[in-house]
Amino acid sequence: MALIVQKYGGSSVGSLDRMHHVANKVIQAKEQGHEVVVVVSAMYGETDRLIRLANALSTQPDSRELDALLSTGEQVSMALLSMALNDKRYPARSFTGSQIGIHTDSIHNNARILEVKTEIITRELKKGHVVVIAGFQGINEHGDITTLGRGGSDTTAVAIAAALKADECQIYTDVDGIYTTDPHLIPEARLLSHISFEEMLEMTSLGAKVLQMRSVELASKHSLPVRVLSSFSDGTGTLVTFEDKIMDKRLVSGIAFSREEAIISISGVPKQIGMEGRILAKIGHANIEVDMIAQNTTAQDTIDFTFTVQRREYPKVLKALEEFATDVGAIAIKTNAKVAKLSLIGIGMRSHTGVASTMFKALGDEGIPIQMITTSEIKISVVVDETQLERGVRAVHQAFELDKEPAAMQKLFVE
Ligand code: ASP
Ligand code: MG
Repeated sequence: MALIVQKYGGSSVGSLDRMHHVANKVIQAKEQGHEVVVVVSAMYGETDRLIRLANALSTQPDSRELDALLSTGEQVSMALLSMALNDKRYPARSFTGSQIGIHTDSIHNNARILEVKTEIITRELKKGHVVVIAGFQGINEHGDITTLGRGGSDTTAVAIAAALKADECQIYTDVDGIYTTDPHLIPEARLLSHISFEEMLEMTSLGAKVLQMRSVELASKHSLPVRVLSSFSDGTGTLVTFEDKIMDKRLVSGIAFSREEAIISISGVPKQIGMEGRILAKIGHANIEVDMIAQNTTAQDTIDFTFTVQRREYPKVLKALEEFATDVGAIAIKTNAKVAKLSLIGIGMRSHTGVASTMFKALGDEGIPIQMITTSEIKISVVVDETQLERGVRAVHQAFELDKEPAAMQKLFVE
């Protein structure tokens, strides 16, 4: 017997039919003898609908009241799923985040979980009940309802699983698991049976949208195995786990990408100690996060300072920098708001050379200019023109034979 936390996303509980289907999935796990705690999202589209209601009524909805509103979506799901289970003669009890005692900080609409109480869950499990919990929400120190940011039900599930020391946290969604890259873009993308926590963190932060970032951080911190799988089909999905549990070791695991990038270059800046700090402080003051950074010294003893930001921040950055450029007498600001970031991720990079050269050659052979590069121990990111992203991803995917079984790919590097 194992203790399993299952989370069902919005599309998995998107209709009453789907709700029945989920109830049957839960029953399957019960029939295998497991104790089951279920975390549910709002029915598909419901959170968006509630946000639209709020925005239609108020130009700037009060954040406390917005949380009171948004948390209702998950409350509907939990009650309906429990009814379905009870009807099928599997006793179930539903609870909101505040009923369970999911304590968060007070940052409304983007709260962080501080503590999860387990008493009620344990009591109900002991009675043989399925415990159904509303995802995405908690309660702060003032007793106000909070929500955890978009996609937050993933984090609810992982936090509950960690608090209960569950054997596995299963995240049911509408994709079969984690792929080598987005199969919507590259149909040859392959489903990964395993991925390490570290790789999953990189994949998520670099643009893969399957799990909420905080849920991956939390799982990794607590070494909690997370399985991502589809509620629409029967596969075993992808297990996010420790590196040493992964048998089919590969050099690289996948390619993540993000189109929402902009690149900004300020050139001819006087070369002075501390100048880089002054440039970033300008941007930091506007509360904007800088992602990649590169700097060159020119023959004229000035520097060219280039960096990327999220595309939606780009007008603000430009404004902050224009004034600064005039003040320090920089020559020009060049920008391109239509770039994308393509990242290759793999723990194998730690122990193998030649990954970057293979990646850059693949892009070069496609005639795709690389505008910027950053690397870390297990990833290489490049900035390319947005129009060349798809071709770039495909070329790199092919160069590393990510569409093939790992065994075939290994041959490439055993030389
Ligand atoms: N219903 C919330 C959202 O749409 C939370 C979640 O589904 O994880 O973002
Ligand atoms: Mg989600």
